[in-house]
Amino acid sequence: HPSLSKVLVVSTVSGGGLVAYYNVGDSTRVAHADAGLVGPPKKKVVVLGTGWAATSFLKGLKSTSYDVEVVSPRNYFAFTPLLPSVTNGTVEARSIVEPIRNIVNKKGPHCEFREAECYKIDAHNKKIHCRTTQASSLRGNEEFTVDYDYLVIAVGARANTFNTPGVEENAHFLKEVEDAQKIRRSVIDCFERASLPCVSEEERKRLLHFVVVGGGPTGVEFAAELHDFVHEDLAYLYPTLRSYVKITLLEAGDHILSMFDKRITAFAEEKFQRDEINVKTGSMVVKVSDKEISTKERVTGHVVSVPYGMVVWSTGIGTRPFVMDFMKQVGQTNRRALATDEWLRVEGTDSIYALGDCATINQRRVMEDVSAIFSKADKSGSGMLKLEDAREVVKDICERYPQVELYLKMNKMKDFADLLKNAEGVKSTELDIEMFKKALSAVDSKMKFLPATAQVAAQQGTYLANCFNRMEECEKNPEGPLRFRGTGRHRFHPFQYKHLGQFAPLGGEQTAAQLPGDWVSIGHSSQWLWYSIYASKQVSWRTRMLVISDWGRRFIFGRDSSRI
Ligand code: FAD
Repeated sequence: HPSLSKVLVVSTVSGGGLVAYYNVGDSTRVAHADAGLVGPPKKKVVVLGTGWAATSFLKGLKSTSYDVEVVSPRNYFAFTPLLPSVTNGTVEARSIVEPIRNIVNKKGPHCEFREAECYKIDAHNKKIHCRTTQASSLRGNEEFTVDYDYLVIAVGARANTFNTPGVEENAHFLKEVEDAQKIRRSVIDCFERASLPCVSEEERKRLLHFVVVGGGPTGVEFAAELHDFVHEDLAYLYPTLRSYVKITLLEAGDHILSMFDKRITAFAEEKFQRDEINVKTGSMVVKVSDKEISTKERVTGHVVSVPYGMVVWSTGIGTRPFVMDFMKQVGQTNRRALATDEWLRVEGTDSIYALGDCATINQRRVMEDVSAIFSKADKSGSGMLKLEDAREVVKDICERYPQVELYLKMNKMKDFADLLKNAEGVKSTELDIEMFKKALSAVDSKMKFLPATAQVAAQQGTYLANCFNRMEECEKNPEGPLRFRGTGRHRFHPFQYKHLGQFAPLGGEQTAAQLPGDWVSIGHSSQWLWYSIYASKQVSWRTRMLVISDWGRRFIFGRDSSRI
């Protein structure tokens, strides 16, 4: 009865056992009882997001132990590594998405999905504030709150424009499925407009100049996919336009794919040169107007403007505004992403976890250990360490902490001594330990030690689900098996990332693969490895079949160039 503070309704369910619905204050909860007895109320877990981290968390969580509510503006999971293939129709958008309700409903009646975005986290009252999104056009701007016992933040990141003027208004991003669909339409638009008889030669050249900003894996893969689309399909459909097409890839650094092995970088640059993809390194974009893109050349300092038909911006990621507000709430103003401890719990909170692109693991404990190891290595007590000795120490540290090794590799550093190379007061042959420690804490607050990849996000989701699954058992048996005991506040092993390697598709059925143990493979065989791994990593058999049939369709009939 609504006027009662507690309502208990007990009924049988088809799967056996009993379900009890009870109402306390304004929150309704569901509890299961296998033997006909109603147990204590279940804890409520609220998950923000339906991306890589959230989906692997949901899939791994035994939801019978919790009430779960998922909130996300997107009612599907998207397989982001195939987004570049959606931009040219190699794969259809619907083939890479899985309705989140297919995953949520498998979890039973304890798991609910709400299509809305969270705009504020009230950690003090354990509440989140949500609103319906623009996508849900049938609804107005409705707002509601959701209580939680545990909150899992897995909202990913947004595209980073570095406040470059005109990017938001004039460039395409490649983060979401809608972005990929827009790019596909825009490419065809450029070709159709360029083929109109009323268009001048100069305008035709402009329309068919495609610019990609960012020489990271996404930018490079998109440029390669676009090149294949143009040369394998559009060139035959628009034969008179073939000679006008130009693809430019702009990169502010010295090389494209700089986070990969040197052999891969060199191969990619040579291949792009052969394919006549114009790679411009040392070129920083300073402005994008509706028809021109302006770059500043690092060496000369000259600003050059070139006309373009379409720009795709792929230069990295930034924090979502509501996450930044939350970071202020928990005293993390100087961070670039939400800092968690090694058990993925947000620093400064006790029941909020963050994973995937929106989070970074604070390496304070590792940093303290590293710093102690260095101090110990300074046997003379002079505060200085010879660089070759420092290198030995770093080798030892890398063996103990794989994340440090990965970080150094990603940033092309032989060791931490490189960090200090240009620092004031450092002699070229010796390392000042105090300065080194300062540099370490600067690295820890500014950098993400783990790469922002689906691989990291998915492993974190699985790890956290495991912790949640074992939480009850650990509470019941605090003196339980050794692996459940920790050094105090936590009973689980810290999260440990296992790097399985990465791919860089380069077009023309060739892919570069950098696998564990620095094993590098480039060419057609890696492309087949890429096909098999990406098919096996699909979240359902439905998407797996769709993706494989799309690849087959493309081999037989080519890509579809209709602008629908
Ligand atoms: P996402 O997967 O981005 O999910 C974030 C979720 O949060 C989404 O469901 C979103 O709708 C939701 N959300 C957003 N705002 C809110 C809000 N206010 N409230 C609630 N929910 C919200 N990684 C690889 O490992 N290999 C690759 O080959 C690879 N290729 C890529 C290619 C492209 C084009 C892109 C864009 C990325 C690629 N990545 C790849 C990176 C990978 O996609 C990301 O690292 C991964 O998606 C991060 O997972 P996540 O769960 O943190 O965020």
